[in-house]
Amino acid sequence: MVQRNKNFAKLQAGYLFPEINRRKTEFLAKNPEANIISLGIGDTTEPLSKTVVKALVNAAEGMGSLDGYSGYGAEQGMAPLREKIAEVFYDNSIAADEVFISDGAKCDTGRLQMMFGNDVTLAVQDPSYPVYVDSGVIMGQTGEYNNDNQQFDNIVYMKCVPENDFFPELEKADIIYFCSPNNPTGAVATREQLEKLVDFAKTNQSIIIFDAAYAEFISEPDVPKSIYEIDGAKDVAIEICSFSKPFGYTGVRLGWTIVPKTVQFEDGTPVHNDWNRVMTTVFNGASNIIQKATIEVLNSEQGLAEMKALVSFYMENARIIKEALDELGFTTYGGTNAPYTWVKIEGKDSWEAFSYILENAHIVTTPGAGFGPGGEGYVRFSAFAHRENVLEAIERMKKLDL
Ligand code: PLP
Repeated sequence: MVQRNKNFAKLQAGYLFPEINRRKTEFLAKNPEANIISLGIGDTTEPLSKTVVKALVNAAEGMGSLDGYSGYGAEQGMAPLREKIAEVFYDNSIAADEVFISDGAKCDTGRLQMMFGNDVTLAVQDPSYPVYVDSGVIMGQTGEYNNDNQQFDNIVYMKCVPENDFFPELEKADIIYFCSPNNPTGAVATREQLEKLVDFAKTNQSIIIFDAAYAEFISEPDVPKSIYEIDGAKDVAIEICSFSKPFGYTGVRLGWTIVPKTVQFEDGTPVHNDWNRVMTTVFNGASNIIQKATIEVLNSEQGLAEMKALVSFYMENARIIKEALDELGFTTYGGTNAPYTWVKIEGKDSWEAFSYILENAHIVTTPGAGFGPGGEGYVRFSAFAHRENVLEAIERMKKLDL
């Protein structure tokens, strides 16, 4: 018999979102009439924009001609797409060959762990997007899970709470995951806070993995959309990003990772070299149809305007949710530079609050504790929903005694 990878036995319950789905399905089995509104998993709900659809059709049709057909492409992505991303999102402060195209930020998170191996220490914001911790556990970077503090040994949990403005006291580790705008708290780090982060990484010779999946949702001026807006970040930071949320590509799948050539390992090897090796070894390039279509969209003013309109639609949802919950007397955070509102719950733990809201308002939220021990006492409301569902959810929340 083949021995099971012992790291899998360390993982806690299921991955958060399948676990939420399981509970929702169980509830629906008992209450088949319930009209459930999902403000839980951050999955996009609105259709692809007209320009995206046209570009996808064009790209697919191209594949049906002898001249237009292509097979395997460069594992790092199509050169015009790498160039366009450097231009549109980084004002050409990043070289095109530092942009690696992928099938999404989640997938790159896992592959980054593969590059780091199992000898590194991790620091994460607490609460945080569960993939950072769970992929580290699978890689064998952690010790056992402790039930008493709900933390894995060998992971540094940096608490992000209202008292520190959701910017943690930074702690030493080889790899520091940092997500801004943040999932789940909706907090966004200021320029000064990011300067502190970069300084800290330089002093301690850490590498930052900066998750900018929600960068396009930033509405306040002078809040950095990329870690590379901070001096010195190109020496210490890798940035992962995604078309999932601003373009509605959660099912289409396209993202990218920036690895500046100036980030190095202890022995002087550019991280860029090893990342290139990972991507050429275990990845075979993102879909050529999607890449071609996205080049067309990024080259179109209309395409970019439609992307901004989609982001504005979701952020209007966020504003409605936050305002309504504030009026109901909840203490809320986030929701202005991120599509998530982080809601403090009194008198119930977060899974209890999740169940209470599901059973009594038929709304799926996300329990804060699913994002780490620092999320206990909160639930997250996602703004990714049809407008009528958001408005209906608000009406239902008004009737709750929470
Ligand atoms: N990073 C964060 C912080 C996310 O919240 C998500 C998705 O919810 C992802 C990455 C995953 O992005 P992708 O769809 O590109 O894999």
